[in-house]
Amino acid sequence: MTYKQTAWSLNDLFPGLGSPELEAAFQALEKQVADFEKVRPELGAGMDVERFMEIVQLSEQGTRLARKLYEFAELAFAADTQDQAVQTLIARIQQFLAELENRTLFFSLWWKDLADSEAKRFLEAAGDYRYYLEEMRHFKPHTLSEAEEKIINLKNVTGANALTTLYDSLTNRYAFKLEVDGGAKELTRGELMVYVRGSVPDLRAKAYQELYRVFAADSAVLGQIYQALVRDWRNENLTMRHFPSPISARNLGNDVPDEAVETLLEVGRRNAPLFQRYFRLKAKMLKLPRLRRYDLYAPLAKSGKTFAFDRAAEMVLASFAGFHPDFGKLARRVFDENHMDSEVRKGKQSGAFCASALPEMTPWVKLNYQGHADDVATMAHELGHAIHSMLAAHHTTFTFHPSLPLAETASTFGEMMLVDRLLAEEKDKAVRRDMLFRQVDDAYATIMRQTFFALFEKQAHAMVVQNASVDELAAAYLENLKEQFGEAVELGEEFKWEWISIPHIYLTPFYVYAYAFGQLLVLSLYQQFKAEGEAFKPRYVKILAAGGSEAPAKILAEAGIDIRSEKFWQGGFDVISGLVDQLEKL
Ligand SMILES: [Zn+2]
Repeated sequence: MTYKQTAWSLNDLFPGLGSPELEAAFQALEKQVADFEKVRPELGAGMDVERFMEIVQLSEQGTRLARKLYEFAELAFAADTQDQAVQTLIARIQQFLAELENRTLFFSLWWKDLADSEAKRFLEAAGDYRYYLEEMRHFKPHTLSEAEEKIINLKNVTGANALTTLYDSLTNRYAFKLEVDGGAKELTRGELMVYVRGSVPDLRAKAYQELYRVFAADSAVLGQIYQALVRDWRNENLTMRHFPSPISARNLGNDVPDEAVETLLEVGRRNAPLFQRYFRLKAKMLKLPRLRRYDLYAPLAKSGKTFAFDRAAEMVLASFAGFHPDFGKLARRVFDENHMDSEVRKGKQSGAFCASALPEMTPWVKLNYQGHADDVATMAHELGHAIHSMLAAHHTTFTFHPSLPLAETASTFGEMMLVDRLLAEEKDKAVRRDMLFRQVDDAYATIMRQTFFALFEKQAHAMVVQNASVDELAAAYLENLKEQFGEAVELGEEFKWEWISIPHIYLTPFYVYAYAFGQLLVLSLYQQFKAEGEAFKPRYVKILAAGGSEAPAKILAEAGIDIRSEKFWQGGFDVISGLVDQLEKL
């Protein structure tokens, strides 16, 4: 069977935008929530366990309808970002869901408030809902009284949330000026960053200099916003909620132990010289004496080789089937059920993703397939996500989706399998080089860069309490970069303002390490696969099939992985070292 590049069908969700089924779903969800509100007086520590489980399932029914509506709107938007009817639908759904959430909040508050001895009876009967219910209760020691929680919520609207909104408003209206081909251009940040990835060295430098010229002009204000957010994080999470450190508030959300995160960051820091070796190699490829920070994302001349879509589909499916027959069959379902939008069209959102709406539904995959070797790798990546969801389809709507640290496991693993297969078959040196560079580039961006952001955040949170000024924070950031790049990369002074241009550290402190966690985990798993072959596979399938039904550390411990051990994390870096060795030989 040959596959063609097509748009997807969303019929499994709803037949169309104006369809009666869509309107009926809004009404059904409204009724679900009204029914759920009625259970409130029944909630009590002594209530019947069976009734408790019925109530949990009632809330799952509502969540299922909400997810269907939400995914339909998101997928329709990705397929055509210019469609006004879709934009209106998204706004309507967001408003609707926010209101419903407030009306159902009483359940989680009651549940967290139970004593451990009271909750035990319910948890024992909860089956596959257990981890979902346990996770809510993890926050119990850090939850305040209802009155205090309400004050924090209210004050956040005009406090921390207002500050992050202000940060967004300020930085999103920046206009950047760049001289291109003799003409002056006024650009958005997104448009400016295109030149950073462009092939003209002088424009790469000028684009970065302009980016930080504009940010630096507002550094006093942006730095002040950051200081206030850091103090707010401390006041709430350490002073009031009694978390032991600023980062541990985030760790609990990811359900990853503090020691594991510390080990990850420490091992990451120690491996900075590995990427420095890679940057020296990249300088050589670009025929530069030394790589400038401006050239980090400079493209190498791409090989001209392209892969027809049906050939790519065939290669990716064969690679999955070669690993495990079930993987091949599951990936094929995405094609056969027309859940893939692979076309390049005007108005379609760029990039790629995989969206899993409900456990029993085949996920939807978006690609913008253009036939380069990295487009084939992206296909394998997104189908890997789809396989992960389908292997976990026997779990509940609350527990089938992997948690953040495990979310990139099957995708990155699938991509690596494909690359290995292509490297074994591919005779064209340029194609081999493209694929290896892509892997190390990605590893840099997701592992090393994010690790050093997290290290800076830890330092900055400590410095702000010690009353550090904005300039002192910028100086610390420059030192952080110098440690990361060593002598391998020439660093302009203006990069000391990079941190005030990173929304993540403002909006969701310490979020960034999860990227490094996920990517290193997969590299380590892949190394185990290469060492053990067949014996590794059942363990791997078990990790994926667990979905989000257990804590990441527990799922991995059952597969013999200790995320607190240095050796485990180092294993991931050793794989990258092997890739750089291969590149040095090409
Ligand atoms: Zn992914």
